Amino acid sequence: MSVLIVGSTALDSIKTPKAENPRLLGGSASHAAVAASFFSPVKMIGVVGDDFPKRYLQLYRRHGIDLAGLQVRPGKTFHWSGEYEENMNRRRTLKTELGVFETFTPTLPAAHKQTPFVLLANIAPSLQHHVLDQMERPKFVAADTMDLWLNIALDDLLRLLKRIDALILNDGEAAQLTNETNVIAALPKLHKLGPRYVIVKKGEHGSILSSAAGVFIAPAYPLRKVVDPTGAGDSFAGGMMGYLASAKGTVEDAVRRAMIYGSVVASFCCEGFGLNRTTRLGRADIERRVRQLEKLAAF
Ligand code: AMP
Repeated sequence: MSVLIVGSTALDSIKTPKAENPRLLGGSASHAAVAASFFSPVKMIGVVGDDFPKRYLQLYRRHGIDLAGLQVRPGKTFHWSGEYEENMNRRRTLKTELGVFETFTPTLPAAHKQTPFVLLANIAPSLQHHVLDQMERPKFVAADTMDLWLNIALDDLLRLLKRIDALILNDGEAAQLTNETNVIAALPKLHKLGPRYVIVKKGEHGSILSSAAGVFIAPAYPLRKVVDPTGAGDSFAGGMMGYLASAKGTVEDAVRRAMIYGSVVASFCCEGFGLNRTTRLGRADIERRVRQLEKLAAF
């Protein structure tokens, strides 16, 4: 089955203590769509400006990503720049230039409206609503978010939580949303806000799932060297949803395994700038790491 993904389609300028790379392909939808493409057909919804390099469009196509819902508008592509500290868990946003995103209204091609799996990747909650409004009875909807929307669009976000099956957020956002710094204590409070599945990402320490079936802990793949963690969260969400859409049986049965696949694709993402490493992967590389992770976590 296929996955529809909406989110930011961006040019990212990224600085780490070791290197600096301008205008890489980035954005939550780009990372999530490439990650999901290893498992399922992907339809991407977004907007880019007329400055968007053709080679990036080709890269989406090489991954078989359906671009019928990607608008190309006169103006500048969304541009984000960020800088990492020596401790790569700490990042500072230097600039966010919305460009064509400022006036973006996602419009779904008719053929996209019945896509069974939907990932509302990180983007303004009003746009996530707009996409959901156009969907016809999706099977499973997951949403990701970021602290910015908790700060400036909380009402829209809270309304969204009533409409989705799964919420994917990081531990800091979970604490902000619930006033609860203990993640385990935050989980029931997050369910009360709407979603049946809550997935809290804890960066290099893995992620936690809470659902009617209980709690599950997914490890992160241990990396000796992180080159650039930008997009790891989006890759996790995309890999997870791509795997879920490809899995036989029920979501309940597949979601734990899907998180492991998400973790593995996210680990590859961290090993290169932007999408450089992820776009060079094959399914066999992913499977190899899944097996290693299985061994590492077995007891
Ligand atoms: P992550 O590292 O998972 O937090 O995701 C980083 C990606 O989010 C980058 O590729 C950025 O282009 C994108 N991004 C940064 N700020 C925003 C924003 N305000 N809205 C949507 N996407 C953003």
